[in-house]
Amino acid sequence: MEYTKDLSIVISLYNEEESLHELVKWIEDVMQKEGYTYEIIMVDDGSRDASWKIVKELSEKNECVRGISFRRNYGKSAALYHGFKAAQGRVVVTMDADLQDSPEEIPEMYRMVVEEGYDIVSGWKKQRFDNKLTKNIPSKLYNATARWVTGIKLHDMNCGLKAYRNEVVKNIEVYGEMHRYIPYLAKNAGFDKITEKPVQHQKRKYGVSKFGLERFVNGFLDLISLWFLSRFGKKPMHFFGFTGILMFLAGAVLAIWVIAEKLIQQGQGLLYRPVTEQPLFYLALVAVILGFQLFLAGFICEMVSRNSAERNCYKIREEI
Ligand code: UDP
Ligand code: MG
Repeated sequence: MEYTKDLSIVISLYNEEESLHELVKWIEDVMQKEGYTYEIIMVDDGSRDASWKIVKELSEKNECVRGISFRRNYGKSAALYHGFKAAQGRVVVTMDADLQDSPEEIPEMYRMVVEEGYDIVSGWKKQRFDNKLTKNIPSKLYNATARWVTGIKLHDMNCGLKAYRNEVVKNIEVYGEMHRYIPYLAKNAGFDKITEKPVQHQKRKYGVSKFGLERFVNGFLDLISLWFLSRFGKKPMHFFGFTGILMFLAGAVLAIWVIAEKLIQQGQGLLYRPVTEQPLFYLALVAVILGFQLFLAGFICEMVSRNSAERNCYKIREEI
């Protein structure tokens, strides 16, 4: 495919009025120095300050600046989704608007995608200038979990600064709050040449962080969802049916055991406990019921996935 530009820089922003002039100036300087053809796509995620007004001014001054403005705040994923849809460059770079990411990193990331053939080059804030207790330490834990679940060896999965081959962003759909796991979405779409590059990180110069501690709980839940979808999204019965059968069989065997034991003892004229006085019997009943419920969940999920518009959606590399 022919691309109209070397680079698309996608920036999602929410109430970042103080940073925008400086940010665009900084990017322009780097682009001019390297001689790239480029576009800056600024997605205003429903800001309530003057951000959008500033984006409009910037785009009047420089025709490479484009903008999309949401009516309300939908979140970073929604902003990236629209930015990706609009991107026309050969390489698509995402970065935050708060001046924490440095545009100086772009040329090397661009080179790694174009010359070394990576699908994704993800930034790694090796030396990080955020609050230690609320961000840096939880983030280490979160990244270790993400590495383990996704099998992608990145130190900083959620770094805002990343470079993608254009094809990657056109073949994935960022939704919900899945911007944290774009490398995983890409891997599930068959783009697995993923690497990282240590990047400069600055303290937030203006404004405040838009994400609190809840990011780690939500991030973990999203990770579980993505893991489930990537493994069983197209065959949910394999998950629910399997766990259901195990549960059901365990319950049934236990129940039979408890009843048989009682009958034998009763038959031999020994002292025996009625089954309803044995805790094990109730555990067995619960297991049988849960097993059956899991099975039902499996059937329902199969019906949902059969009706899904994506049931036969595959990523094709090439056709001849
Ligand atoms: N952001 C956004 N929509 C939101 C929240 C944040 O577009 O609902 C943008 C924000 O303006 C910034 C980027 O996402 O450009 C990263 O946000 P932030 O700097 O607050 O995150 P942190 O660096 O604290 O992880
Ligand atoms: Mg930030």
